[in-house]
Amino acid sequence: MKPQQLKKLLVYLSKDYTIFGPEKVGDRLLIREIKDAKKFKLVNKKPFYSHKEFLIPSSQTLFNYDKNKLLKPRIKRKQVLIGIPVYDLKAFTLLHEVFEKDVYFQEIIRNIILIGHSPVPEETTFYEDYEEHILEHLRFDIFLEFKPKGEFRVFTGSEDGQRILEKVGIKDYEHVEYAGAVPEEGLAITEKIKQKLVKSSKNTKIWKELNKRCIVCGKCVISCPTCFCFNIDDEPAFEKNQGSRIRDWGVCFYEEFSEVAGGEKFLKTIGDRIYNWYDHKFVRIPNEYTLPGCVGCGRCIEVCPANIDLRKTFRDLKKLLKSKKL
Ligand code: SF4
Ligand code: SF4
Repeated sequence: MKPQQLKKLLVYLSKDYTIFGPEKVGDRLLIREIKDAKKFKLVNKKPFYSHKEFLIPSSQTLFNYDKNKLLKPRIKRKQVLIGIPVYDLKAFTLLHEVFEKDVYFQEIIRNIILIGHSPVPEETTFYEDYEEHILEHLRFDIFLEFKPKGEFRVFTGSEDGQRILEKVGIKDYEHVEYAGAVPEEGLAITEKIKQKLVKSSKNTKIWKELNKRCIVCGKCVISCPTCFCFNIDDEPAFEKNQGSRIRDWGVCFYEEFSEVAGGEKFLKTIGDRIYNWYDHKFVRIPNEYTLPGCVGCGRCIEVCPANIDLRKTFRDLKKLLKSKKL
């Protein structure tokens, strides 16, 4: 597909959808509404944040209530998300599994067209090598593989994707049938990594050191495309019998995250909470969904003010394991 055809595609989509894609703002690539589809240029760079906010909003009203009536806000916006690197598509695929029965997520996803693209190699990214066969395990509508001279090899991953390309007159695409989230050859995250983590009790020097360094800003969780924990709050209105139920992103590094009635906290120290984050991503999510809880985008490394780098944590775990101190 030639670059002009991408413009034609976006102009067509802009009639029915609001399009969001990466735009350079200062020295960062941020996801912004694309107001002029003709001027949009897809660059092979990683957006500073992922598109997660569009699928699970950071704050979402689940319902309002008025006396005995439940009033569910309807999602009306039809959106196109473009500029999603392959590792963020992997994260979406995990979110699909996690929120499979969540009516709010499903309603959003029904109204969204996902346009992904081949991965962006950067210093902090550490995903597996991109190979075409990975596409059959990802959720997307249209996928663009970067080729020289600004051209793309085009794939569709859904009937919506096919319908859209046909309407625009783009014929040189290949269709990929979704074969489920889990590749036959198993996970990129090996049993070894899981074992390393489980073996390292919360009290090894690794967690103690991170306990000292982390300043609990929560940026790693907010920037992570796979972090999906949330809080539910009931907000009563001043009017009698009225109020709302809100779902907000949760940050497991915050002290109150594990607090239950009576004030008891199950994750008392920062080290406990960091260990919980690693354990969730690398042990519990793979066990529950047979998918990795980390897609290797490197954002948590880039945003951490304390220079905490999960690749180093695993190197340290490996050393401890070798020296039989675990
Ligand atoms: S844990 Fe870090 S590298 Fe892994 S997906 Fe989340 S932000 Fe990306
Ligand atoms: S970004 Fe770094 S300092 Fe902030 S909570 Fe995460 S690990 Fe801690």
